[in-house]
Order: sequence, then structure tokens, then C-alpha cells
Amino acid sequence: MLFSEIKGLNEVKEKLIDAVNSNHVAHAQLFLGKDGSPNLPMALAYATYLNCTDRQVNDACGRCASCVKMNKYIHPDFHFAFPVSSTKSIAAKDAHSTTFLKDWRKFLLENPYGSASEWSVLFGGENRQLNISREESRQIIRALSLKAFEATYKVMLIWLPEFMHESAANAILKILEEPQGKTIFLLVTNDSERLLSTILSRTQIVKIRAFSDQEVKTILMNDDGLHEKKAGQVAHLSEGSLSKARHLAFEVEDDSHAMFRDWMRLCFTNDYTKMVEWSDLFQKMTKEAQKSLLQYGLHMMRETLVISTQNHEIMRLQGEEQSFVENFEKVMNFNKTEKIAQALNSGYFHLERNANPRILFLDLSLVIAKILRS
Ligand SMILES: [Zn+2]
Repeated sequence: MLFSEIKGLNEVKEKLIDAVNSNHVAHAQLFLGKDGSPNLPMALAYATYLNCTDRQVNDACGRCASCVKMNKYIHPDFHFAFPVSSTKSIAAKDAHSTTFLKDWRKFLLENPYGSASEWSVLFGGENRQLNISREESRQIIRALSLKAFEATYKVMLIWLPEFMHESAANAILKILEEPQGKTIFLLVTNDSERLLSTILSRTQIVKIRAFSDQEVKTILMNDDGLHEKKAGQVAHLSEGSLSKARHLAFEVEDDSHAMFRDWMRLCFTNDYTKMVEWSDLFQKMTKEAQKSLLQYGLHMMRETLVISTQNHEIMRLQGEEQSFVENFEKVMNFNKTEKIAQALNSGYFHLERNANPRILFLDLSLVIAKILRS
């Protein structure tokens, strides 16, 4: 990845380049940006620049032996750690970054703005719970104990360290603080609030802003061949996330909408037997799908709040989602909507901390039914 392949954010690129040329490269940096922002591409371009043997003023040369390998993600001094899970053919104990390197290179080459769940689909994790394990932290330390093969800097890029198991995070604290030789850690996070403070305090933060609607629109037109009108509509809905924009533009809708709509109807009717049936259904979904349903519900509540304050212009929904929110809003008020949002939020929180999905979902249904009828 070269800086020139990332649209905009010149202020960030300049800062990063300056640091290299003035020999002020912090040994542990945290590229912090929202999902769908260029945080991962920026870290990749930075790593390429660091080891380029013919650095230009604004970018790596793209031609030297280092750049050629960096651009294929096969440089022996460029190491990666990222969240993985078991798959149909790989048991959890054997699932490490090195197991999935081939898929990882494919992901970086084809979809470097992709989300964690797109990554999971690509390597066959089918949205099982992702994590960076304790064993992974051992592999990180082992990889960095070797001398650099050919480059000036050994670079360890950790994508989404928020998926690190606490023991894995603790295991790398020492090396993160005092790496040997010229080792540079590039941590790329979508959610710094989920990182241990001990990791945060050991890294220098590089803030990566989300794309503007206009930038997303330009990228969709230039790189993805979308017509101006469609690019504009999708960009407006994407909230600055290129992965979300591409999802909206190219993927078929997932079934979160239908499921959430039917669930809310069920809560309206307050049918306890059905609620129990639904909690069994919920239990059978993958963890990521469970989380995605609750997140989708939160999104719908936010949109309901938006139209209840009469601000139809800033509503980002269209079609069936729009009519659902308009109908929902008729039977709701601000207070109720907020209470449901809080319930969904707390459900999400507990789900992430491994609450039993069946009990959690039934409990949520009862709480929501009570709010709706209050
Ligand atoms: Zn080069």
C-alpha cells in the first residue's frame, strides 16, 4: 500500500512522513480510526514508507526490492497478528495468524477497508467469535526475537488489538514498552475504549478520521465505477465508512431488518410462548449475528429518535427501513425509545461478556414488551 492509494487525509500522511525523515519514529503507535476509515491502509502505507530504500518526498518509491515485497505483504520483516477463530476444518487451538496468512494477504490486497466480519467470512470463520489468543502473543514475541532479515525496521502490525485476550495483551506489555533493536509496533484499532489502559499508555496515538461523505462518493465513483447518483446516496448512508458504503452498494441486504421488525411485533403482542421460542432461535445464531441484531436495533432506535424530533432530512434510512421507523415512531415516544435503546445497549454489553444468549434474549423481550405497553 502506498500513501497515494489513500484518498485525502494529507495532514496525517505529512505527519507520518515527517516523523520518519526527522528520525522521530515512535516504537509503538496506535492507528485509531472508526470501522471503514483508512486506519489499516494508513498503517500499511506507513510501514512501506519506513522500509523503502528510495524514499520520495511524499511517498515510498513503490519500486525498490523492499517496496515490491511490502506491497505483496511478503516482506520477511513485516509481521502480522490479527483476530481469528476456528473454522470448519481448523480447530480453535490451531487457529493463529500464521495459519491464515494466505487469506490475510488476500484480504489486504482486495479489501483493506474491510470490517472484522468481512474478514471472518473471507477465511471461513463464518462469524464465529474472533480473538487474538495467548498463544498468538507467544508467536509475536518469537517473531520479534529474530534479527531483521534485510530491512532497517522490523514491523509488527497488530490489527484490531481490541480482540486480544487479556492474558495475551498482558504478555506483550514488556516487549511493547522495550522492543529490541529497531522494532516498530503498529496497532490498528477501531475501538480504543476496549483496549487495556496498559496497552494504551504504551502507544503513541495516530488519529485517523473517517472519510467525509464527499470522499466516499469520489472513491465509489473512481475506484468502484458507481454512477454519481448512486454513489451520492450510498455515501450519505455510510457515515464515513468505506466498508459500510461498499456493503450497501454491492451486497444484498442481510436479514437483520426482517428479524428485528418481527421481534418488535412479537414484543407488542406480549406473547410469552413465542418469546421463549424466539430466544431458542436467537441462541442458535452465531455470536456475531446476535451482536449484529442488537446493533441493528440500536441503529433503528436512533433513527426513531431522529424522526420523533421532526428532523426528517437527517434520517439516513430508505425504503422498508424508513417505513418501519415511521410506523414505530407513531406508537412510541422519546422516553420509551430511549429506554429500549438502553435495554439493547446493556444486552449488547452482557452478550460481549458471554452472558447466556437464550436467557439474555428472553429477558430483553420481556423488558421491551413492558416498555412498549407502559
Ligand atoms: Zn521503495
